[in-house]
Amino acid sequence: MNVPRKKLLILASKLGYQTRGFADAAESLGVEVHFATDRCHKLDDPWGDGAVPLHFENPQDAAKEIVQRFAGDPPDAILALGDRPAPTAACAARALRLTGNDPEAVERCRSKLTQRETLRDAGLPVPKFLSFALNESVDNIIAQVEFPCVVKPLALAASQGVIRADNEKQFRAAISRIQALLQSPEIQVTREPGLDRLLIEQYIPGREVAVEGLLDHGNLKILAIFDKPDPLEGPYFEETIYVTPSRLSDAQQSALRDCAAHAIGALGLTHGPVHAEFRVNGQGPWVLEIAPRPIGGLCSRALRFGPQRISLEELLLRHALELGGTNVERESDASGVMMIPVPRSGIFERVEGLEDAEGVPGITEIRITARLKDYVAAWPEGSSYLGFIFARAKMPNEAEAALRAAHAKLLFEFSPRLPVEHPVTGRMSA
Ligand code: ADP
Repeated sequence: MNVPRKKLLILASKLGYQTRGFADAAESLGVEVHFATDRCHKLDDPWGDGAVPLHFENPQDAAKEIVQRFAGDPPDAILALGDRPAPTAACAARALRLTGNDPEAVERCRSKLTQRETLRDAGLPVPKFLSFALNESVDNIIAQVEFPCVVKPLALAASQGVIRADNEKQFRAAISRIQALLQSPEIQVTREPGLDRLLIEQYIPGREVAVEGLLDHGNLKILAIFDKPDPLEGPYFEETIYVTPSRLSDAQQSALRDCAAHAIGALGLTHGPVHAEFRVNGQGPWVLEIAPRPIGGLCSRALRFGPQRISLEELLLRHALELGGTNVERESDASGVMMIPVPRSGIFERVEGLEDAEGVPGITEIRITARLKDYVAAWPEGSSYLGFIFARAKMPNEAEAALRAAHAKLLFEFSPRLPVEHPVTGRMSA
């Protein structure tokens, strides 16, 4: 008798190297995978990939579209690969009676403000914060602001638009810069709720870590704790190096695990991948952010599990579809990834030194993901890296040293972008 193939629906803002990793894992497991992505409905499958076009900013409607699209032949599970599609995944899972997070819990994570409020009300250690409308005068709020602080949009990800300010002058400059970013066509087109507000937080000093976890019907399994060994003191917070296992003490890691479990419980997340960021200092762990999605970009390649060294993608697919084989631990070797920083905004012209960098002992792979001749924006306006460097070693400090040595051998060249005149308004671009 033929057993029907299990079917997974993956929601992602765009199809690219991350979704390809899932498609590869699905193929090797004999699983049928469908994609749905942010895309115009009026074009009929413009890229020929069969992806369902959705508007993730409206999760209820997007979920209805999924239900209609798969009427009579629904998927067995739904997985969201980013912050933006996560609410849709939860709503669609609910509508199709599939195991998934409560849509309200995901909604609480969606806005950085509601997440902070929920965690604060549950007694979790979060920075002091306040929020105000983008069009409110800075003069009205400045008296309430304590320095140093961090100013951030409510809805963006990847540290885009996140700026530290140590005094009033920096604060005013940060607000103007974030206002301009939020009003740019690239951000407005996302129609995310909350683009008209800002969050201001107490700056928390300390060592930063990222936690990758997997929830199974309410039980949290920590898959990896990554140290972020670069200082990350601002004023912008582009990510660089992640290394696992963490070099925090056992006591600090245990406090971190407890804090992660409490924060996830307070938000009400129960099923599927979680990616969380914390700062750890003399007062213990502080929650920066919890997201109901796996680690982004190509970073998942830093993780392998069990004797077969299965990928994170395979692990998540197995978990979502209940295929078994998920009771595995991360390999014991240290592993690291560097998200290659963008030194300045400009047209990406070329990269030199790749072969030398690949030859550094411990380096397993270097992927330049930015496209030549594309404009690449540096942080805080930017949100995508030049590429990724991967390393493996016996010890975390060796993996970190390999990443730094490889990065030092790479030379990226940029040329300035020439201003263009808008065809209608005649205004020149920046
Ligand atoms: P995003 O979801 O866009 O990544 P986050 O709120 O997680 O935004 O902030 C991005 C980064 O900015 C964090 O990883 C951290 O390095 C820094 N950061 C954010 N908020 C604070 C804070 N209150 N104190 C110190 N650093 C912060």
